[in-house]
This record gives sequence, C-alpha cells and structure tokens, in this order.
Amino acid sequence: MEPIPDRDGPRDECGVFGLYAPGSEVARLAYFALYALQHRGQESAGIATSDESGHIMTLRDLGLVSQVFDESKLRALGGDMALGHVRYSTTGSSAWENAQPIYRSDHRELALAHNGNLINAVELHDELSAQGVQLRSTSDSELIAALISTHEADTVEDAVAEVVPRLEGALSTVVMTRDAVVAFRDPLGLRPLSLGRLGDRYCVASESCAFDIIGAELVREVAPGEMISLSERGLESRQIAHSDRRAFCVFEHIYFARPDSVLEGVRTQVARRRMGEILAREAPVEADVVVAVPDSGNPAAAGYSLASGIPRDDGLIKNRYVARTFIQPGQELRKHGLRMKFNPLPEVVGGQRVVVVDDSIVRGNTTRQIVGMLRGAGATEVHLRISAPAIRHPCHYGIDMSTPQEMIAHERTAEEVAAELGCDSLAYLSLEGVYEAVGVERETHCDACFTGDYPLARTGAANGKYALEELVTLA
Ligand code: SF4
Repeated sequence: MEPIPDRDGPRDECGVFGLYAPGSEVARLAYFALYALQHRGQESAGIATSDESGHIMTLRDLGLVSQVFDESKLRALGGDMALGHVRYSTTGSSAWENAQPIYRSDHRELALAHNGNLINAVELHDELSAQGVQLRSTSDSELIAALISTHEADTVEDAVAEVVPRLEGALSTVVMTRDAVVAFRDPLGLRPLSLGRLGDRYCVASESCAFDIIGAELVREVAPGEMISLSERGLESRQIAHSDRRAFCVFEHIYFARPDSVLEGVRTQVARRRMGEILAREAPVEADVVVAVPDSGNPAAAGYSLASGIPRDDGLIKNRYVARTFIQPGQELRKHGLRMKFNPLPEVVGGQRVVVVDDSIVRGNTTRQIVGMLRGAGATEVHLRISAPAIRHPCHYGIDMSTPQEMIAHERTAEEVAAELGCDSLAYLSLEGVYEAVGVERETHCDACFTGDYPLARTGAANGKYALEELVTLA
C-alpha cells in the first residue's frame, strides 16, 4: 500500500551517514543522524554496524527511522563503525528488498548506502548478469555494491577507486567493510556529501544537520570525485574520478536540504530568505499580506515580506503531525485530503489581497487547492510567488519529478499556469535570481529540471525509476 506523501513537491532522494568511532555507541549515533536526515527519505530506513572481529550486521525496514528502530534493536547493533540510510525510491520500487543499507559478501563483505541515480544502470546490470552475479533487488545501488564486493583488489579503497570511474550518474555513497568506512562522490558532485568530526573521529553525511544532532562539527564537503576512507589509520583521501564539469544540484539549495544545513558554505535558510527578497524585487505586487505555504515556503516568504514591506502573517496552518501516515483516508476523506495538511485562517486572509509564497510547483494539485481554500476563507486576491524557476524537465540524478506531461509548467506560460491554478497572478524567481541568492556560479551547478540543460551527455529517458524492473521483467 502506498503511503500518503507528506510533501507534494519533487520527492527527496535519500540520505546517507557513515561513522568510524570505536568505543562509541555507533548505532545510536547513526540513529540520531538518520533522524535528522529523515526529510530526505521516508519510505525505508536502515543501519549497518561492523567491527574487525565480527561480521557486518544490517537492520533495515520500510517506515520512518523512529518506526524501524527501538532500544532493543539499537542495542543489538554493536560495533566500531556504522552506516545509515533513509530512502525515497528513485530507482526501483519501494519494496523491502530495495531498502538500504545493501549487504553483499561476494569477494568481500560490505554494506552500502547510496544517494543518487546511475544512468548506466542497465549496462552494468547486463554485465554483472553475464558474469553470473546474482542480484536480489531492482535498485541501482545494489549494482554499485556488487561491483565493489566482487572486485578482486586487495583493499576496498582500491576496489572503489577502480569501480567509480565506470559509474555514470549521481553517487554520494558510503561503503562499510569490517575495517573501514569509505565514502565517495561522483566527479560532477551532483548530490551533497559532507565530512564531519566527532571528537577525534570522523563521520560523513548527506547534510550537516546530521552532524549537529550528534554533536559533531562540519569539517568540509567531500570533493567531487574524492574518496574518503575512515579506519584505524585515521582519515585518508584520494581523488579517484575526474571531470571538467562540476554540477552540484541547485535544487538542494532551493528545496531538498534542511534549512539548518550548510551547503557550499551557505546556510540553506539564509539562501532561501534571499530568494524571497530577490523574488519581491523581480515580481512585486500590490497586496496586504504575505502568507507562506508552511513549512517549505517560510524562509522565502520572510524574505519577500522584508523586501516588499508587506507584512507577513500565518494564514495557512499546517498540521505538523500528519507527516506520513500509512492509514488510508478512504474516498470520503480523500476529497478533503488537503485539510489534513493545511487549514486557512479567515481572520488573516479574509478581505485581504494575499501573496502566497512557496518554493516550487510540480504538478500543481496542492497549489490549486490552496488557492481555492484561501478564496474560500475570504481572500479577495491571491497572487502566487514561487522562489524557484518553473520546473519543466525530469531529473535523472536521483529526484523523482514525475513526467514532463504531468508538470503543470510543461509547455505553459506563467499566465497559463495562473489560469490553471485559479490565482490572480503567478511569478517565478529567475534562474539568475537563484544563483544570486545562493552566491554561486551557474557553471558549477546542475539546473536541468528548469532548463533541460543536462550536465551528463548520455542522460536519457531509458533510465527512469523502474528501468531495472522493466529489464528484470523482460528477462
Ligand atoms: S535536474 Fe534538478 S533536481 Fe535533478 S540534479 Fe539537476 S538541479 Fe537537481
């Protein structure tokens, strides 16, 4: 049964964490790090632990971190190092077999957690199948695990160094053997991965908010194409893949990362507030009140209000505890589904010209309902301001954006989208505005979902979410 999603924008991809800390409660630390990364994936969660004398233990299941683990399970996961993963499925369905960390013990025993998406997964699958390597899941992450696990190099670092240049796509990945935690990023640096320090030990995580919760400090980002190894030798680094292009996902700054995370040296909350300020400069409107779509629109709404001088108020209240439920509302309640998440306040929006600020629109279903709700609560005008450009192209690097035909901005102007949504006006932040807000250069980023300008030449529709499942079905 499909759970009810808690966000209506593009789906987050995955969150990863790795830690080498003999003498610490590594599973407990991984649990809290994953707890902080929960926004990056709510379908499944898993932790693997390892020590030199024993085996790798893996525990993973469908559900939230707090649903999958309890005290007794964490106590059973002892070891010197840990690996953790939260998942939203981008390749392969959300079946249990696709939950991570992935465990394999071909030539070497390992567990692996991956954030991203391979665009040459079908070729790699064919190659492994031809060698007789058995695969248990339809996730492209298992292909990476199988390539490293079957590799005959003496050390896991050498195996990773030989395998990574053969992988195309987005790869922020952590591998754990019985004696090391090894993390690496693809040479374009599409998805985030940071290095943290916990006392005299090191850890890696998708976002720095995972360090804050366990008392670790952000050291730096893992560089594109860099491999970091954490073991009894301490911290080692090696450049294992090269590219002339850098392409960090600019959508991490706009939407995916938690507002308290630091990406490329910028606190996400601060960048998002600046996006709202620039949006007010680019798309001013005569109005009485600025209302955020909570929580995603909060920082940009604050910026819009600050720059425009229009007061901000909470005109939409979000039920924080609706988050993600596996209980289906049934037909009758489904009609009122949105009220489970948002409730408008007539006292704030009644008789007012309202500017509604959100950070993205994909299909537009939620936005259309919000516009209707605000009008129902008495708003005289509803002006939508989106702190990102229009999304018109799918992502092939680990984000589920749905098909172009499902995107409301697909082959539609802002005026046409406004008419579809029933609002009085609609404006998006320009791409230049995004880069100005973050303070980074376009040349080193991916913005393909806005522009169609994919940084990897071979990116193709054949690498959709279910590409491997289709292959397995055909075989
Ligand atoms: S296509 Fe969009 S979401 Fe995907 S990596 Fe590029 S900027 Fe990020």
